[in-house]
Amino acid sequence: MDRRLLLKLMGAAAATSMIAPIANAAGMRVVVAGAGIVGASIAYHLAKAGASVTVIDSEGPASHASRGTFAWINATWAKQPRAYHALNQEGVSNWQILSQELNIPLRQTGSLEWFDGNTRQQKLTAQIDEQIAWGEPARMIDAAEVAKLEPGLVFDSTKAAYSGNDAAVDPVAATHAMLNAAKAMGANLIFPSKLTAASYLAGELKEVTTSQGAIRTDKLVLATGAAPYMMGQFTGTDLPQRSTPGVIAITKPMARIINRIIAAPGVHMHQREDGRVVLGEQDGAPQNQAHAMRLASRPNAFPTRAFGEEHAARMLAVAEQFVPAIATAEIENVYIGWRPLPIDGHPVIGVAPKQPDVYTAVMHSGVSLAPIVGQLVAHELLTGETIERLGPYRPDRDFTEVKRY
Ligand SMILES: Cc1cc2nc3c(=O)[nH]c(=O)nc-3n(C[C@H](O)[C@H](O)[C@H](O)COP(=O)(O)OP(=O)(O)OC[C@H]3O[C@@H](n4cnc5c(N)ncnc54)[C@H](O)[C@@H]3O)c2cc1C
Repeated sequence: MDRRLLLKLMGAAAATSMIAPIANAAGMRVVVAGAGIVGASIAYHLAKAGASVTVIDSEGPASHASRGTFAWINATWAKQPRAYHALNQEGVSNWQILSQELNIPLRQTGSLEWFDGNTRQQKLTAQIDEQIAWGEPARMIDAAEVAKLEPGLVFDSTKAAYSGNDAAVDPVAATHAMLNAAKAMGANLIFPSKLTAASYLAGELKEVTTSQGAIRTDKLVLATGAAPYMMGQFTGTDLPQRSTPGVIAITKPMARIINRIIAAPGVHMHQREDGRVVLGEQDGAPQNQAHAMRLASRPNAFPTRAFGEEHAARMLAVAEQFVPAIATAEIENVYIGWRPLPIDGHPVIGVAPKQPDVYTAVMHSGVSLAPIVGQLVAHELLTGETIERLGPYRPDRDFTEVKRY
């Protein structure tokens, strides 16, 4: 990163109270395990506050969920209850700041969403009423307005929800941008480097062992996403997760065919600044034995390119019903992403109950939340203060409720 960007970052840090340099932060050494979008944001905000940061990842930046994600930045009706919705609203507004700080292209064009069937549509209307009451610039719009906003869309319903604040980002580019900025402020990035052990003396963390050697540190942040066993191994307490897979297909760049995030029945899509269309399936993999067997080992990629292309062709066929112009799209990549999904649907953020020097940050909607979570986690780690609005997400809560989101 050049000197001008570094100066801009330092200026931005001084202008924002939460992320201004923190007294004594310079003395604190923090290892962030996991260089997905959440770990990258934590590392960026730690480095910005003056900590001595090392980021490790067993594969490399954005190699798991943060690559195979739809990357819709939102605080939609699904974000319940209100306090969690508010945290996501902070995520959305902090993306604007982050994208300006680091020149990350952010398409904040809003989303259009509708469902099959009257009952679900009526529920959507009620959910949008709640959104409005919670301060979202959302509303139900009719087919004529949909046509104005999205001329290339074949809209098969009478009303859609339009959520004007929603945005989308290239999550891989954003992850790299945050890591590069952290590096420019002194962070050490070591890839590939797998966290394998942690050593304590009189209950205090002294060093972590990685596949690239030992690193002396005061704190360890586990931003390891859906990786099984990490929480149990490094915190002594298992995190109940119901990580589910999703397929994301990305086209080669093409002339603009859609303006907004389209959440249509069966398929979600948006088109990035660079012209690539990102497609996500609304439902998971077909529930059959062949899939169950293939998914048992939690693959991060398709066994062959042909398998991936088959999935992409299925998604393109659904998308074409709504956006005929996508018929000419060529698929560039197809990814499998595993959602880091704590069983009650909410993030797990905070000091591990049995290991005070280990901090956990595992969540779905990690793309929407990354900018705000990075800030809040850095603040808690470096000041020792507890931020009240993170209270519902602590790792020692009761995981009795089971939710999808
Ligand atoms: C299909 C799909 C669609 C999604 N859509 C959205 C959406 O529209 N909007 C939204 O906000 N969110 C969405 N999400 C969720 C979002 O993508 C994730 O919450 C987010 O990417 C999590 O980021 P992360 O950095 O926590 O995890 P990851 O990106 O998974 O990063 C974890 C990293 O930890 C590393 N790691 C694991 N174990 C070790 C170890 N022992 N040592 C070192 N490194 C290790 C891994 O290599 C990995 O790179 C979606 C997810 C999926 C799968």
